[in-house]
Amino acid sequence: MRVVIRGGTVIDPGRINGLADILIEEGRIVAVGPGVSKSAAVKGNGAMVLDVAGKLVVPGLVDLHCHLREPGYEYKETVKTGTASAVAGGFTSICCMPNTNPINDNQTVTQFILERAQAAAHARVFPIGAITKGTEGKELAEIGDLRHAGCVAISDDGRPVMNSLVMRRAMEYALAFDLPVVDHCEDLELAEGGCMNEGIVSTQLGLAGIPAAAEEVMVARDLALAELTRSRLHLAHLSTAGSVRLVREAKARGVRVTAEACPHHFTLTEEAVRGYNTQAKMNPPLRTWQDVEAVREGLRDGTIDVIATDHAPHAVQEKQLEFAMAPFGIIGLETALPLTLGLVEEGILSLEGAIAKLTTEPARVFKLDKGSLAPGAEADVTIVDLQQNWNVEPEKLRSLSRNTPFAGWKVKGRVVTTLVGGRIVYQAP
Ligand SMILES: [Zn+2]
Repeated sequence: MRVVIRGGTVIDPGRINGLADILIEEGRIVAVGPGVSKSAAVKGNGAMVLDVAGKLVVPGLVDLHCHLREPGYEYKETVKTGTASAVAGGFTSICCMPNTNPINDNQTVTQFILERAQAAAHARVFPIGAITKGTEGKELAEIGDLRHAGCVAISDDGRPVMNSLVMRRAMEYALAFDLPVVDHCEDLELAEGGCMNEGIVSTQLGLAGIPAAAEEVMVARDLALAELTRSRLHLAHLSTAGSVRLVREAKARGVRVTAEACPHHFTLTEEAVRGYNTQAKMNPPLRTWQDVEAVREGLRDGTIDVIATDHAPHAVQEKQLEFAMAPFGIIGLETALPLTLGLVEEGILSLEGAIAKLTTEPARVFKLDKGSLAPGAEADVTIVDLQQNWNVEPEKLRSLSRNTPFAGWKVKGRVVTTLVGGRIVYQAP
C-alpha cells in the first residue's frame, strides 16, 4: 500500500521546514521532498493520494504523560477511548502512567495494556512502569522485568516516592536498565490536605493550599540524587517559577535532567479556580501568573524540553463533588496542540520549536524511535489545519471523560488527519 501526502508544509524539526510531499510504502516513510509525488515510482501505481495543500504536516505527536485508566477505572477511560482521543488530538505515540488498578508494577499489567492497545489499533502505547510495588514508595518494583515487558520509563506518578533512599536505589537500578525515572515532584507532607495553589486566591476561597515549595523541595532533592547517581531524571509537569529555576541551574551544571510542562500550566492561573470550579483542580495545581511566565520562559530557553498532556480523565459525577473532595486532573489529549500553538501566536515559541516540544524532544527524552519523518521511520504523521478556529465542546471530544477547563474556549489549529504506520486512524468530521 502506497500513500502520498501531497503539497503540504512539512515540519520535521531540525530536518525539514518547507513545502514537501511524503511518500509512504508498507507503513514506512520512503521519501520526503519537493516533487516526490511526481516521481516515476509514484505515477500510475495506484497510490492513495492525500492532497494537503495549505496544511501543516508533522511527525505524529508524542505524549510522555497520560493516564489511560485501564485496567481498573474503565468508567473514566479505556485504552481504546484514550487512544481514540490521542489520535484525534494528533498524538500517535503516548506513554501511560502506571496508576491503574492493579498498578502497572509487573509484566502482566504491562502486557495487558499493550494487548489492549494492539486491539484498539489507534495510537501506539508505551507503558510506564511503577518505581515501587503498588506505588507505595517502599519496595522497588521489578524494574528489569518491566523493561523487558515493554515499559519505557518508571514513575510513581500521583504518589511520589517520599523516601529519598528508595528514590536513590530506583535511580541506580533504572540507570542499569537505561530507563528514565519520571518524578511527580510533590512533598506529600507539605502538600497534605491542599487542593489548590497556596496564595491569595486559596485564602479568599477558604481552600487549603499546596505551596510552590511542596514541588520545589522535591525538584531539588531529585536533582541532587540525579547528580549523585548520574541517572536519567525526567521531571513531570513543572508548575512553579522555582522549579524552572532549579532545573535551569542544574542543566547549566551538567546534571542529566529533562523536564516537561503541561498546556494548562502555561495557559491558566489559579484564578480559574474561582467559583470553586473543579475542572480547574489538578495536581500540581494551577499557579500564579509569575509561574506561568516562568514556565513559558523555561519552554522558550530549553530548560523545559517537552510539552506533555497529563491527560487525566475523571467521570462527570466525580468532578461534581465539592471542590475539596473532587479528584485532581483534567483531560488534555485533544486540546494540547491548539494550546501549544497559542504559544506560537504569542511569539514565545517558533512553530518549529513548538512542534519539536511535541515530537522530536519527547522521543529523545524517552529514547523512542518516533517523532520523525526521516526515510525508514514508521509513517506516523499528523496533518493540521493551522487556520481553523474551533470551539472546545467537551461532549464532542473522543475521550470517555469530559473534565476540561477549556470548555467553550475558541482555539485555533485543528488536526484534520492522523496516520499511524501509514494507515489513517483519524479523519476530522
Ligand atoms: Zn503527576
